[in-house]
Amino acid sequence: MIYEDYYIFTPGPVKMSEEILKIGAIQTPYFRNSEFSDVTFFCENSLLGMLNAPKGSRVIFLTASGTAGMESVVMNLLDSDDNALVVNGGGFGQRFVDVCAVHNVSHFDFKVEDTNLSDIKTKAPNEKFSSLIVNAHETSVGHIYDLSALGEYCKENNLFYIVDAISMFVTDEIDMQKQNIDTVIISSQKGLALPPGLTMVVLSPKALAKIKDVKNLYFNFKDYLRNGERGQTPYTPAVTIMLQLQKRLEQIEKDGGIEKSIEKAKDLAEYFREKIKPLPLKAYSDFMPNAMTTLTPTDGKSAFKIVEDLEERYKIMVCPNGGELRDTIFRVSHMGDMDRAYVDVLVDALFDYYEKEA
Ligand SMILES: *Cc1c(COP(=O)(O)O)cnc(C)c1O
Repeated sequence: MIYEDYYIFTPGPVKMSEEILKIGAIQTPYFRNSEFSDVTFFCENSLLGMLNAPKGSRVIFLTASGTAGMESVVMNLLDSDDNALVVNGGGFGQRFVDVCAVHNVSHFDFKVEDTNLSDIKTKAPNEKFSSLIVNAHETSVGHIYDLSALGEYCKENNLFYIVDAISMFVTDEIDMQKQNIDTVIISSQKGLALPPGLTMVVLSPKALAKIKDVKNLYFNFKDYLRNGERGQTPYTPAVTIMLQLQKRLEQIEKDGGIEKSIEKAKDLAEYFREKIKPLPLKAYSDFMPNAMTTLTPTDGKSAFKIVEDLEERYKIMVCPNGGELRDTIFRVSHMGDMDRAYVDVLVDALFDYYEKEA
């Protein structure tokens, strides 16, 4: 089923703008030329600026979903000599644990609940680590961590700091220099509001110096960096999504930059949370990102049933949680091309729904 005429509040893919959709309809151009290299250079420089990356940082463009970004980072930057502290507060944290296990990187499965880790200095396991890995926004539950506190902790203990920013880039604050971040992973289908298929790995000079010789063809960072010097990739890039990325980054810059983009998401999130206060729904986490609101029904109703009903009766897609929280929570994304009027569609539907259910 294609949900073309549905209202979209899922945390990826998210609602895309008309301008971006139009680029998806044009003939994909040939890319081994200087015109396309300029697109790559523009995207690289713009992303580095938005992340306030240290001078000399680089971006790798992978034709793959976000998990490939997570896995390739572990493969290229860590090995069996490392001991990684992996923050695990849900499905995506667990995925990093699995990636480390698959690639024989020793790691500590740091299970986290009810804290944004601003208390990391007292909470951290008493063990010697060489690196810290975190999903800045644990999208499975809608919980955001304190990147600055984690960065402080990494600096004090000399840890290499890897941040998966996939579901918070452009909606919540991240600053590589201020927060001492060495590597950032981002992906096209979340806050960037593009189709899935393009993932970016941002490497600081410290990360660049740490890259290993890997036994892997497709995810060999050294190969990407060599090709990237002339604005190219070793293998066919997601050409159309790169063109869409260029347009999207230009849009963000034109609209006042990354700060404005974050402000807008914050406004939408707060607007939504304020509006639904009278309803029997409560926030699941005390540490919600601007990117998403996760809600728990307080009247005993199944969260999964609410998701189904919104889809069937109102053509609105919010997101269920697949795991054991299936009946406990559902998620509402504030990422993508939306405004208060768009959010009102969901708010009105929820009020109507509860009135009819009563
Ligand atoms: C969506 C997401 C990913 C990537 O998942 P893919 O399905 O591989 O694109 C990774 N990390 C986080 C935190 C995410 O939200």
